[in-house]
Amino acid sequence: METLEFQAEARQLLQLMVHSIYSNKDIFLRELISNASDALDKLRLAKLQDGLEADTSDLHIEIEADTEARTLTVRDNGIGMTREEVVALIGTIAKSGTADLLAKLKEASEKKGDAELIGQFGVGFYSTFMVADKVTLVTRKAGTEGHGTRWESAGEGTYTIDDEPDAPVGTTVTLQLRPKDEEDALYDYADEWRIKQIVKRYSDFISFPIRMGDETLNSQKALWARPRSEVSDDEYHQFYRHISHDWSDPLEIINMKAEGTFEYEALLFIPSRAPHDLFQRDARRGLQLYVKRVFIMDDSKELIPDYLRFVKGVVDAADLSLNISREILQQDRHIQMIRRRLVKKVLSTIKDLMTSNPEKYATFWREFGRAVKEGLLSEPDNHKPILEIASFATTHGTEPTTLAGYVERMKEDQEEIYYLTGESRSQVENSPHMEAFREQGYEVLILTDPVDEIWVDAVPDFDGKKLRSIARGSVDLKKDEEVKEPEGDFAPLLGFLKEKLDEQVKEVRLSHRLTTSAACLVSDQDDITPALEKMYRAMGQ
Ligand code: ADP
Ligand code: MG
Repeated sequence: METLEFQAEARQLLQLMVHSIYSNKDIFLRELISNASDALDKLRLAKLQDGLEADTSDLHIEIEADTEARTLTVRDNGIGMTREEVVALIGTIAKSGTADLLAKLKEASEKKGDAELIGQFGVGFYSTFMVADKVTLVTRKAGTEGHGTRWESAGEGTYTIDDEPDAPVGTTVTLQLRPKDEEDALYDYADEWRIKQIVKRYSDFISFPIRMGDETLNSQKALWARPRSEVSDDEYHQFYRHISHDWSDPLEIINMKAEGTFEYEALLFIPSRAPHDLFQRDARRGLQLYVKRVFIMDDSKELIPDYLRFVKGVVDAADLSLNISREILQQDRHIQMIRRRLVKKVLSTIKDLMTSNPEKYATFWREFGRAVKEGLLSEPDNHKPILEIASFATTHGTEPTTLAGYVERMKEDQEEIYYLTGESRSQVENSPHMEAFREQGYEVLILTDPVDEIWVDAVPDFDGKKLRSIARGSVDLKKDEEVKEPEGDFAPLLGFLKEKLDEQVKEVRLSHRLTTSAACLVSDQDDITPALEKMYRAMGQ
């Protein structure tokens, strides 16, 4: 037998679990069932795709409770783990942004628990330590000969690992439940009625039977295959949590069904809040792919473009091969078609929200607008629908405006949509470029996201109106472009400045652009803006 230490991050997370910052402890069972279900999916897939020899005739999950011994056991006959896998998967946390998140979690827990935050993380297996003093995991990997592995821990920094001679294929997790709290009968997780209730609530849609004794506790119905009218919001929400590891409810649920030459069903969720790693390159993204109810893969990036990476959900395609690989997926015509349809549907759903539920729309844009705007760069074909759902800060009031709203307010003689980019609202508002526009009552969009610097050049127009930076070229509002009258009194001054600034500027001229400031820097129409220049420099270009 070996005693090993948890990795530092794992230890910290365990600490939080042992001292339970989650108010809802029930979820530990959901996490165990979710892992068991994943393991069953994986075994079926290994047999289908890699030709692993395995008996998959009765894939199921079994729950056993012993009120006397105060133990609760969850068993699956899925893929199982090798000893190395147990150490790597259970002893460490390999998720991106872990350290970051832990720091935030710790802070939150000191301020009395933040279920929202921890929910973003998907606490997984460690959540068992909220209700157990000791957790034992016995497992054997399908397709391996000889002994299995036994893992045990009290969640206090170390765990033991040992061979287990007679372990069957699959995984058994046994919890030694904490002593019963007489005051709080609800938290008796050895109670059969209580277990049934939790399974029904959180795991009803799991596609394998969850059994207790000879009773099957779940209905196993694929949620995406059921008509929307027959599924309760709570069922959708639980399913969303199962696939997203998000603790809060989704903002919007999207059902799709296509019949005919190429059949598929999709169930998509737009979260109500951006994940902490929305802008991290290595973050998980993509949808789950099923073929005729059989789970094929997680994180299928081919089904949804990067700029909609926050969308979660399932696509179940009827006519794909069960053997389909990621490589083939990338080129598959049907997958590309599904992807186009999903994009269209997501964008139109948001557009509908703008009128049907402006508050939800505002939440959506606040959380995901920055990501969505990336689509203006990557998908020229979708400029129009993306611009239609975008909104921007503006000099017209404190609320963001849509471009349609801007166009409606444009002055009679105005032909272009004016904007100014910068680092913050106040910086943009106080820019000397703004003076004349403010004075003469022209509205200017205030663009402060880094991506704004780039997409404005990629988008030719909105509704036939060009987007025009007020910091570039000659956008003076007086019709006579630059001031033509003799420089007169100013000639000596201009000459002096030209000479002094010879290295720094191309030209020094008089302008109507300003009202109170004495001077400002203007780029040529085709020059990059100072902010963009700064961004490129920061990227080392
Ligand atoms: P997650 O499920 O989000 O990956 P967990 O903490 O729930 O995180 O589980 C960590 C890993 O341990 C899983 O990804 C899986 O590889 C492995 N694991 C957990 N439970 C089982 C099980 N019942 N059978 C096989 N592998 C398991
Ligand atoms: Mg899990």
